[in-house]
Amino acid sequence: MADALDFLKEELADLDRQGLLLHPRTLEGEQRARTRFDGRDVINLASNNYLGLAAHPRLKQAAAEAALEFGAGTGAVRTIAGSMTMHRELERRFAEFKHAEDALMFQSGFTANSGTVAALLTKDDLIVSDELNHASIIDGARLSRAQIKVFPHKDAEAAGRLLAESTERRRLVITDGVFSMDGDIAPLPDLVEVAERHGAIMMIDDAHASGVLGKNGRGTVDHFGMNGRVDIQVGTLSKAIGVLGGFIAGSSHLIDWLVNRGRPYLFSTSAPPAVVAACMAALDVLEDEPERLERLWSNTRSFKEGLHELGFDTGTSETPITPVITGAEAATQTFSRRLFEEGVFTPAIVFPTVPRGKARVRTIVTADHTDEDLKESLDTFERVGRELGLI
Ligand code: PMP
Repeated sequence: MADALDFLKEELADLDRQGLLLHPRTLEGEQRARTRFDGRDVINLASNNYLGLAAHPRLKQAAAEAALEFGAGTGAVRTIAGSMTMHRELERRFAEFKHAEDALMFQSGFTANSGTVAALLTKDDLIVSDELNHASIIDGARLSRAQIKVFPHKDAEAAGRLLAESTERRRLVITDGVFSMDGDIAPLPDLVEVAERHGAIMMIDDAHASGVLGKNGRGTVDHFGMNGRVDIQVGTLSKAIGVLGGFIAGSSHLIDWLVNRGRPYLFSTSAPPAVVAACMAALDVLEDEPERLERLWSNTRSFKEGLHELGFDTGTSETPITPVITGAEAATQTFSRRLFEEGVFTPAIVFPTVPRGKARVRTIVTADHTDEDLKESLDTFERVGRELGLI
């Protein structure tokens, strides 16, 4: 019998020929600085576990206790019967953390972005979006059916021009806080100024900045001292916070609207107790162990310096996300594979995640990496880089 999906085999073979086929590795232990993937012990430069919270004892304890007391799942969406006291408590704590009136938890950062953009704009509106914004923003923009205009990366003046020539009813300026594949920071003060001048809504996706930038990891808005001037802050609970989920922080009328019109919030079951309790414990750890953030940044500085001294191209990175840009897709896959064989896990990032010809291995150091981990990683980068003629 003919298989109606046979065309996928051809598509997959085509991806393979271009060096674009993904082969996700399997983690066989906890998400830590040194751990085991695919049967090999490696130094892990691949996770978003910035502060080392994914396997922090306090988060594990909180998750276990919540599961025992409140069960494994919530059994309903938030608007039917799946809102627990702890969901609202976590949201209040996030609102406070972000200096916002209120906050709302989503099942992921992805749904927080896509659900919020789609709930706010309609076909009569305009979205002005940085060209390197995350896929979840792009999908939300498409779902909204609003007109989408993309401005060159970090070019606030270009965003201003798009707003000046627009005639749409409502306008949204949207940017990532920290760009996930390049590790550079959005020019938030300039974008806010432009949005304010044109009466546009300002939204920032702080997935890679929550827990990383600003006081105690409050994010990009706090980093630039712009509290109170950004209408919508998106955060993820899946990266520095170490667990799973996303949230929106903003005014109480924004949150009330999303409770009524945020489709992932309305139509997908709420986060289980273990997840919510672990997120709460993560906020406690952020306050009680500020040395984690300091360690993250000192590791970031020394690792970047080491890569520069070796002659690698790290692009425009200013944060713990440090790409090592190699360009060609197939060569990058080889680089990543050889590093892994030599004990350093750093994934190859290729099209469509980054533009063609801009392939890279992406490194992320965490607060948990020791000086020895970093030195061994740099030695391995040097050895494999020379072997492949990259430096
Ligand atoms: N925004 C950005 C910039 C991201 O990098 C990611 C994660 N890849 C997300 C949003 C989605 O977050 P989550 O993993 O919580 O869905």
